[in-house]
Amino acid sequence: NKPATGKPKWLRVKLPTGKKYTELRGLVDKYSLNTICTSGSCPNMGECWGDGTATFMILGNICTRSCGFCGVKTGRPETVDWDEPEKVARSIKIMKIKHAVLTSVDRDDLKDGGSIIWYETVKAVRRMNPETTMETLIPDFQGIERNIDRIIEANPEVVSHNMETVRRLTREVRIQAKYDRSLEVLKYLKANGIRRTKSGIMLGLGETEDEVIQTLHDLRDANVDVVTIGQYLQPSKKHLPVKEFITPEQFAKYEEIGKALGFRHVESGALVRSSYHAQKHIL
Ligand code: SF4
Ligand code: SF4
Repeated sequence: NKPATGKPKWLRVKLPTGKKYTELRGLVDKYSLNTICTSGSCPNMGECWGDGTATFMILGNICTRSCGFCGVKTGRPETVDWDEPEKVARSIKIMKIKHAVLTSVDRDDLKDGGSIIWYETVKAVRRMNPETTMETLIPDFQGIERNIDRIIEANPEVVSHNMETVRRLTREVRIQAKYDRSLEVLKYLKANGIRRTKSGIMLGLGETEDEVIQTLHDLRDANVDVVTIGQYLQPSKKHLPVKEFITPEQFAKYEEIGKALGFRHVESGALVRSSYHAQKHIL
């Protein structure tokens, strides 16, 4: 199982362009706004920003976890910034975002897991941007229900939580997480009134086709509405290697299988990221 080398041609992307993109880029630079789209140099910026979608990270830039695929720094996180909800809401207003994706680092250091800031942020965005819809891409909150309940109470249009990989590789890919706990979180959200739930996996980490299909079954059994399937790319040499580049045909096959299983939306393709086409997923 050697690492794959050389990026195939379907992973080469054009630089983002477009009037709306240029305008937003200018605002983000002028006001030093913090979006995942820019800090992760996401290949989909032209498309997402053109549609009025962007992703914002809350609760700092340092994570208490150390997932093998993730480019976010691990360590002791910053102290909580209680003005953050207002700042995020203001950024969304300045950028005139129609659909905001909010995500965070994991804050296992905090008693509330960061759920109070999560709640306040959703509320502040609603107050300042009543027309904007939201997806919250949340951590597992270690499965603690009173923390997950704050997300349910804030009631964003979509709540997502990513499985990231198949059961067998979960330990290697996200050491502090558990496959079944993540499924439980997704099931709990749906059972307690969240209208749309969503999850994502990355391929190319050494999973087999059968394992991917099993994960799709598990997500459907947890009543998840939307699934995203994309190609894993190594953020740096220190991260898990890419074992395989999945072909466009294989992605199309998973999309078919997912649709047949009854998901409302299946986004499957090499450049798909968890927030790609996110605006569609409220429907
Ligand atoms: Fe931003 Fe997500 Fe779109 Fe990338 S896919 S540009 S991170 S909203
Ligand atoms: Fe990255 Fe999330 Fe894992 Fe933290 S919990 S290392 S932010 S994937």
